[in-house]
Amino acid sequence: MSELPSIDEALALVLAHAQPLGTEEVAIDEAAGRVLAADAAATVDLPPFASSAMDGFAVRAADTPGRLRVVGQSSAGRPFEGSLQSGEAIVISTGAVVPAGADAVVPVESTTAEDDRVVVGAAEPGLHVRCRGGDVRAGEPVALAGSRLGPSQVGALAASGLAAVICSRAPRVGVLATGSELRAPGEPLEPGQIYESNTYTLAAQLASAGAVAVRLATVADDEGATRAAIEQGLELDMLITAGGVSVGPHDLVRGALAALSAREVFWRVAVKPGKPVAFAVRRGTLVFGLPGNPVSSLVAFELFVRPALEALQGVHEPGPRWLPGVLSEAVNRNGVRDELLRAQSTVERDAVVLEPLVGQESHMIVRSVAADALVLVPRGDGALAAGAPVSYLRL
Ligand code: AMP
Ligand code: MG
Repeated sequence: MSELPSIDEALALVLAHAQPLGTEEVAIDEAAGRVLAADAAATVDLPPFASSAMDGFAVRAADTPGRLRVVGQSSAGRPFEGSLQSGEAIVISTGAVVPAGADAVVPVESTTAEDDRVVVGAAEPGLHVRCRGGDVRAGEPVALAGSRLGPSQVGALAASGLAAVICSRAPRVGVLATGSELRAPGEPLEPGQIYESNTYTLAAQLASAGAVAVRLATVADDEGATRAAIEQGLELDMLITAGGVSVGPHDLVRGALAALSAREVFWRVAVKPGKPVAFAVRRGTLVFGLPGNPVSSLVAFELFVRPALEALQGVHEPGPRWLPGVLSEAVNRNGVRDELLRAQSTVERDAVVLEPLVGQESHMIVRSVAADALVLVPRGDGALAAGAPVSYLRL
């Protein structure tokens, strides 16, 4: 047992086989969740012109405080033509061009209107003026290669004038459930059957990892059907199978992979849950044979598959993002396998406190609903005490 690879050893083997996929241009409205493959630079200064941060009056600071003649207006998208002379003011709205000659904006709350004049309070030069290029200058990077685009990145790229960006190709990942007992949700269950859930979890995990799930039809524990389905999946960037990788007579996935010339890199890892995970490669395709128990599948994805997807997409430093926390209560350690516990996190004073859920067995997927963290309990003798520092992954 001790010769099984550790989590880190298995992960290193996975990452050694995960080469970045090619790149493609992606329209900005499709780019959320994707990984940039090239630095994206602003096409314009942002703001593109000195603009007002307030509704009010654009003035020359040197004229304030004072009573100024209102000579026109600048509203968003409709600049004032001409330049402001001494003793003059213009009505200005938020986001409108601050005209030549003006160097400050007095908010409307600090003014009194008098016919064609306005009495304004004192203003320093630059007051409520957003300078041109104050956010970013044309040509400067907005987001860097290897970063995953979230809402603020996508917004920043659009604001910088980019209609499309160069991203890593989204991995296309086959998802295959195996097991004669599996029925799709919604169908009636016959004796001995259960609902197939792993491919739904996996599809959600894949979406959150920027990958495209390609669902393959569930197969019974039948050699020919299993092999045919796996053969289809081997045409994609990655194939994830669910179930059928243990040592029972109906566990057919590894045999099918071998028959299809996929080279097994490892089978079984010193981790609980998820021990029977298999990893194989065929040409450019990575294959993860995940154990059937729903929690094992969930955990193995986070430990091995998500980092592999990051590597395929050229993410900077792929790998599980371990965070520091402390245990809420004492936890027994497993002597030979590192263990991952589903837990609920709370932030208390200066630490994230992790409370393991009741019901850690690997079939208990519904108990997982309350978990927002996976806590790593390293193998060893005895217990970890309440308050012990641990690493965890955010779910
Ligand atoms: P296996 O790894 O095929 O031996 O399956 C282990 C356990 O997980 C068994 O109780 C299976 O019924 C269950 N299981 C396997 N595949 C799935 C699936 N896709 N969805 C839900 N449970 C599954
Ligand atoms: Mg099975």
